[in-house]
Amino acid sequence: MLFNEVQRGGGLKGFRFSCAGLKDHYLLAIDGTGLYYSGKCRCQECCIKNEGKANEAYYHQMLAACIVHPDRETVLPLAPEPIVHQDGTTKNDCEKNALKRLLSDIKRDHPQLKLVIVLDGLYADGPTVRLIRSYGWHYIIVAKDGNHTSMIEAMDALDQKGDVKRFEMTDGNGAKHWCRYANGVPLNKTEPVEIVNVLDYVETDKKGKRHTWGWITDIPLTEETVLPTAEGGRCRWHIENETFNTLKNQGYELEHNYGHGEQHLATNLAYLTFLAFLVDQIQQLCCPVFQKALKLRARGTRTYLWKLILRYFLSWLIESWEEMFQAIIHGTAARKIQFDTS
Ligand SMILES: [Zn+2]
Repeated sequence: MLFNEVQRGGGLKGFRFSCAGLKDHYLLAIDGTGLYYSGKCRCQECCIKNEGKANEAYYHQMLAACIVHPDRETVLPLAPEPIVHQDGTTKNDCEKNALKRLLSDIKRDHPQLKLVIVLDGLYADGPTVRLIRSYGWHYIIVAKDGNHTSMIEAMDALDQKGDVKRFEMTDGNGAKHWCRYANGVPLNKTEPVEIVNVLDYVETDKKGKRHTWGWITDIPLTEETVLPTAEGGRCRWHIENETFNTLKNQGYELEHNYGHGEQHLATNLAYLTFLAFLVDQIQQLCCPVFQKALKLRARGTRTYLWKLILRYFLSWLIESWEEMFQAIIHGTAARKIQFDTS
């Protein structure tokens, strides 16, 4: 619902990703993270590690999905999918099963959204690619050399026939970009063989430091599309840094055990944390007074802004968020809000 409000208000415009034939798509980065790990406390949703052994342990994870854009620090999280024990099963849940539930929910909740799914190397396989295509979406997935021997061999064979193209350029910051790419490469040898496009990419920054990436994608690769495709693939970084790092280290304390409960408490607390993060990201994206308070009074540090908000909440009667952010921006001397004497 909150997401739909942002969409209706035009807040999604800045996240549009266009790449040759793909117009007005959105990059959706998906990744999993750990929330909880304990050798003692457990609930009925806990996954179990080393079951029956002396070092048996209990854990929860969450699969998060965020709309990201190469030029934006803010992300827009969609409803995450818990990786927890599923009713009626004896096996632990895993990221791949959670991805199936997550994609199904996203299609149901946002049937019109045109997506490019951005994933890490765990998902560079035929079933995941076919699942994404079955929803009419596209993908950019990390493919590490070591996990795709037959694909690398196929690339080498295409290279010998002259079917692998190369492209290089130096950008305005002095970084050199080099890539090789080919379309129509078999991802695997066993049936059904999945045909993908492959992009190997190297960036050497001004100081000479090399960064290398490899992706598979269904975006047709040409001289015009390799750079935006690489930018899209590199956006996966936003879910690790702008999302998980923020949720764990900038005041949300995603890994903190606020209370584990026996049934669904731990999962519900994690949902609430993501919901709070969504609200804050929307404010950072769309609310001028929030942006000003964060920039001017908190010098861009979210944890400091949270402290200011808490201080106002504990001391003053606040009638609206705008009133509170105005008071934070201008300091208490210019406040309109009343001191709490109750
Ligand atoms: Zn649990």
